[in-house]
Amino acid sequence: MTEMTVELQHIRAARERIAGKIERTPCVVSHSLSDRVGHPVHLKLEHHQTTGAFKLRGASNAIAALSADEKSRGVVAASTGNHGRALAHAAKLEGMRAMICMSRLVPENKLDAIRRLGADIRIIGNSQDDAQEEVDRLVAEEGLVMLPPFDHPDIIAGQGTLGLEIMEQVPDAASVLVPLSGGGLAAGVAAALKAASPRTNVIGISMARGAAMKASLDAGRPVQVEELPTLADSLGGGIGLDNRLTFAMCRSLLDDVVLLSEDEIAAGIRHAYEEEREIVEGAGAVGIGALLAGRVKVSGSTVLILSGRNIDMGLHRRIVCGEAIAERAA
Ligand SMILES: *Cc1c(COP(=O)(O)O)cnc(C)c1O
Repeated sequence: MTEMTVELQHIRAARERIAGKIERTPCVVSHSLSDRVGHPVHLKLEHHQTTGAFKLRGASNAIAALSADEKSRGVVAASTGNHGRALAHAAKLEGMRAMICMSRLVPENKLDAIRRLGADIRIIGNSQDDAQEEVDRLVAEEGLVMLPPFDHPDIIAGQGTLGLEIMEQVPDAASVLVPLSGGGLAAGVAAALKAASPRTNVIGISMARGAAMKASLDAGRPVQVEELPTLADSLGGGIGLDNRLTFAMCRSLLDDVVLLSEDEIAAGIRHAYEEEREIVEGAGAVGIGALLAGRVKVSGSTVLILSGRNIDMGLHRRIVCGEAIAERAA
């Protein structure tokens, strides 16, 4: 049996499929970080992507790859975060139905953001598990197509298009730091980069509070970890005990995985704002946080992916004022 994986050719095909549907985001030099580490540091400004995160790449590719019959049935997911937003946006562009299932506990502002993108919302139960049960029911009974946030070949290939852009924008990249949760982004970016430039180091960065991929890599198989509140909320959640693709790809393609404390993530958000004039969410700030904390040794041109900007602005204000961490510790 050949192992399922995503390769350069799939990522190139994804790029053609999603051309015109996503932005090619800028990659700029950070002078303050370059001075600090003594090597050029480039920021891939993917938080400026439409919908505020890279997730639109995978969602657009997966939707574009559906058959006409699947398109007529519509897509469904349980994500209320960046994947849900991306799916709603991409489905709307295709004139398709998107259904996002969520529990009663999801805050009103998140609900509104997804509703504004034109998705149908179904509120069900009191937990993410209840919402997922409803997704399974809609797939079985109404024929909707489920598109998961990371463990799907077309999602991974779409996220990998970010790697193709990095190769063109920083051809001499020696290290690329990638925010890591379920591993769709890291697997796609690493597959693109390693195919062309096997010696480029690709390093995953997660938060110490509930890093499911890191725990799984250490255990040698997908494992569950306790979900904890974190400033990098887009990096929360498990990798799935029946993970098909991203676990194996991260195991074979990533050179290292580094974990950050909440203080280190907050320092990344603060630096992005004060020194780079960029508003990023916690997950998007982990590369900066890792460099500032000296958690990653770099030895040449380094690229940090700023992956998203969908942070509550009240929380952002408290972080840049230095209040949020004290608040959490209390
Ligand atoms: C989803 C997400 C990630 C992590 O991506 P995975 O493919 O799950 O590893 C990182 N940053 C942001 C902003 C995200 O929305």
